[in-house]
Amino acid sequence: MGVEVTAPRAIVEKHYTARILERKDLSEDLWVIKVDPGGPFSFKAGQYATLGVEHEGKRIERAYSIVSSPYEEALEFFVELVPQGELTPCCAARSPRGGLL
Ligand SMILES: Cc1cc2nc3c(=O)[nH]c(=O)nc-3n(C[C@H](O)[C@H](O)[C@H](O)COP(=O)(O)OP(=O)(O)OC[C@H]3O[C@@H](n4cnc5c(N)ncnc54)[C@H](O)[C@@H]3O)c2cc1C
Repeated sequence: MGVEVTAPRAIVEKHYTARILERKDLSEDLWVIKVDPGGPFSFKAGQYATLGVEHEGKRIERAYSIVSSPYEEALEFFVELVPQGELTPCCAARSPRGGLL
């Protein structure tokens, strides 16, 4: 899966190809992913990043709050399934460890 992470706009305008290091399913509709952003990625606590996923030739981008500390190398996100949504149903089935985000 091709996923891109966009740093908070005020800091830098750049896309990275990120990789899922770890995924934990906390319930049927909630999972947490740990992501290697694929490049230097600075942020402040409370900021969000935009995750972009290539799906059927189309890029879908959504905002996700960064729940990890700015001092950790990996970024962590909690993702809740929105059954009628565009991005989360395909991620629910398609974001194994090692996958590209
Ligand atoms: C600043 C910011 C931070 C965010 N952080 C997170 C986060 O940390 N974790 C997270 O899971 N999501 C977060 N979101 C929501 C996320 O960006 C997506 O909207 C969400 O994952 C749904 O994406 P989707 O493409 O599956 O659904 P969409 O196709 O975007 O939405 C389909 C429909 O469902 C509605 N909808 C969207 N989200 C919900 C919801 N949670 N409950 C009920 N209806 C909903 C939409 O309004 C729309 O009508 C954040 C959004 C913003 C703006």
